[in-house]
Amino acid sequence: MEIVSKKPAEGESAYARQLLAGFGNLRFTATLEDEFRDQQRHINVKLLRTSLLVGLCLWLLFGVSDWLMAPSELFIPMLVVRVLVAVPMLGLGYLLWRGRDLLLLTPMTMLSLVLVGLGASAVVGLGHSRDIHYPYEGLLLVCMAGFFLAGLRLNEALLCAAVTLLGFTAFEVWAGLPMGMLLANLLFLLSGNVIGAVGCYLLEYKTREQFLTLRLNRELAEQDALTGLSNRRSFDAHLETLWQQAERDGRGLSVLLCDVDHFKSYNDHYGHAAGDLVLQRIAEVLQEAARRPLDMAARVGGEEFAVLLYDTEPADAQRLGSLVVEGVRGLGISHALSVTSQLVTISVGLASRQHEKPQDGAQALLAQADRALYRAKDSGRNQLQRI
Ligand code: GH3
Ligand code: MG
Ligand code: MG
Repeated sequence: MEIVSKKPAEGESAYARQLLAGFGNLRFTATLEDEFRDQQRHINVKLLRTSLLVGLCLWLLFGVSDWLMAPSELFIPMLVVRVLVAVPMLGLGYLLWRGRDLLLLTPMTMLSLVLVGLGASAVVGLGHSRDIHYPYEGLLLVCMAGFFLAGLRLNEALLCAAVTLLGFTAFEVWAGLPMGMLLANLLFLLSGNVIGAVGCYLLEYKTREQFLTLRLNRELAEQDALTGLSNRRSFDAHLETLWQQAERDGRGLSVLLCDVDHFKSYNDHYGHAAGDLVLQRIAEVLQEAARRPLDMAARVGGEEFAVLLYDTEPADAQRLGSLVVEGVRGLGISHALSVTSQLVTISVGLASRQHEKPQDGAQALLAQADRALYRAKDSGRNQLQRI
């Protein structure tokens, strides 16, 4: 039978596919986008704690500037605006302090920013109602905070900036600022926002690129390059995790340790490249057996594989292990030099952790599976044995 390569291509990783497809519009496919935003929310909680504290201090500090620069009769209305805006910021601070309600984080951040923008516009409008030279440039700082300090994505920051500029225009019209001056001020603010938006685009693009490459690298570091199964390192880590989980939740955990029979002679006869293809085909059979979310199929050595089965009764694990032995034989790959069969076969050792019997630990379970595997080899190969 001719064996066809099913080696996992780099493009089979969702991260690699997204990197290849590009994301110039700052958007991933739905699943990756959710994963990205979820990660960002967790990072942003820390970033926002600092940003909010800095923002709140600055916002109240500008009250001192109102007191120094604004006509005295305007100080109280300006102070009222500053206090009204500080309230939702304190609400956001409470959310951040609790560290929960992560889904509210972005809407609350945007609301706070928009309120600061509108509040600043109101203060400027009040100032301009008496003195057309009252400083308005601080408004640009609010927009910049949206682009760079608040952990917002570009389109969210743009929305906040747009509302702020609209509010600014409305308050300036209300204050009766001469049209020429209003346009000049708007031009200055718009130019600043264009610079901010371009910077924010580049920053978000780089953040997304870094997200994809880090996840891809992590995926590759946990994967066996030939078969695409998990590698020994991630198998060991997963075994430890599942062992603890099984102990905590009182669940069963089984290991199938698999070794290809007479594989040295297969390589000698058919060549190493053909041997590699066999390993890939066997990997597919094992992957089929490890279908449930916590199960894992791994390549743990040259021609050795392991399957972890979580919350599986020993009898079911034995049934599944026997199916794996049959599945590999069922691939129908000729092995002229095998003294066991004329086809490629595997031997399997099964060990199960039963929740009613406390045992020594994850490595002891693996050692038991290894003993069972030796027994399968000694008993003629092409079969499953259990401890
Ligand atoms: P047994 O039935 O007792 O397991 O005999 P065996 O020949 O399979 O066992 P042995 O340990 O003597 O040989 C294992 C062979 O697996 C030797 C090595 O050439 C082959 N092997 C290990 N890793 C790879 C690989 O990545 N590709 C290929 N093609 N062969 C490999
Ligand atoms: Mg071996
Ligand atoms: Mg072998």
